[in-house]
Amino acid sequence: MAECIGFIGLGIMGSGMARNLVEKGHEVVVWNRTGAKMGALVDAGAAAGDSPADVARRCPIVMICVSDTADVDAVLTSDDGVLEGISAGSLIVDHSTISPAATVRLSNEVAQRGGAWVDAPVSGGSEGAVRGTLSIMAGGADEDIDRARPYMEAFGTTITHVGPVGAGQRVKIVNQILVVVTQLAVSEALLFAEASGLDLNATLDAVKGGAAGSWMLANRGPQMIERDWRPGFTIDLQQKDLRLALQAADAIGVPIPGTALVFQMYRALQNEGLGDEGNHALVKALEKMSGVEVGA
Ligand code: NAP
Repeated sequence: MAECIGFIGLGIMGSGMARNLVEKGHEVVVWNRTGAKMGALVDAGAAAGDSPADVARRCPIVMICVSDTADVDAVLTSDDGVLEGISAGSLIVDHSTISPAATVRLSNEVAQRGGAWVDAPVSGGSEGAVRGTLSIMAGGADEDIDRARPYMEAFGTTITHVGPVGAGQRVKIVNQILVVVTQLAVSEALLFAEASGLDLNATLDAVKGGAAGSWMLANRGPQMIERDWRPGFTIDLQQKDLRLALQAADAIGVPIPGTALVFQMYRALQNEGLGDEGNHALVKALEKMSGVEVGA
């Protein structure tokens, strides 16, 4: 039987995800801290909740997509938070990218009230949220993933059950390590090509289909050559995810030197006021070191 879905957090990602739920015929109750952002969803057919607690009282499944660990914590534990509204059988599905350790702690608080948790961070950007083509890495018990899956299918095409609660957030960190270290390789490679006097577009064409090819090279490479720094994913949000990666790696005692280096380079760019540029602007940190400008 179809269940009512609560959706908390109507930002760049959440607004597209919630809209897909509504458009696929689900009963949806939304809540957003800045209330004005609920208007478009209500016009599309969703109901507006009064608070996170109200959403949790009205819907047995509550999806969350807010910024950072402290924000998920606030949505759950503050006055009128989700924890005040849940009951036995409630299911929380957290689509935010947050700390794996905090995820386990918050899931235990929910479990004490008879509820269950699925951590289901997403990949695929704002375009994926709007088109309903996100990749979702889900952690939780089999029966909870099975219960959430038909609703996640409203906005996700690849939904992978990767392990118990917290595993979804850890796989998202794996994803982010791959993204930024690849981004560093693409930046170094284009800088070398520029300094060598090569034709950058011909160089890209020559290498992108071979063993060195990647999504980052094929999609962000041309943008870097054009010096188009509009974000698919901002440096500020990328940096939040790298902080999560470094903290999680520290907790398990594993060195991730490439990720640590990229974190420091993004920090330098943030200090220059470039935090709202796309993560491919990483190359600007190398340009500062070398005096060479890609695509200049
Ligand atoms: P966003 O556009 O900045 O939206 C953030 C949302 O969180 C807003 O609805 C905001 O409410 C809400 N929020 C933040 N702090 C809150 C708090 N303390 N209490 C209640 N609500 C709070 O961010 P986004 O791009 O949608 O990202 C959301 C999550 O998805 C993040 O964890 C991000 O890392 C992840 N993600 C993003 C992308 C991407 O390409 N953008 C891709 C994959 C994953 P207000 O409207 O009131 O500010």
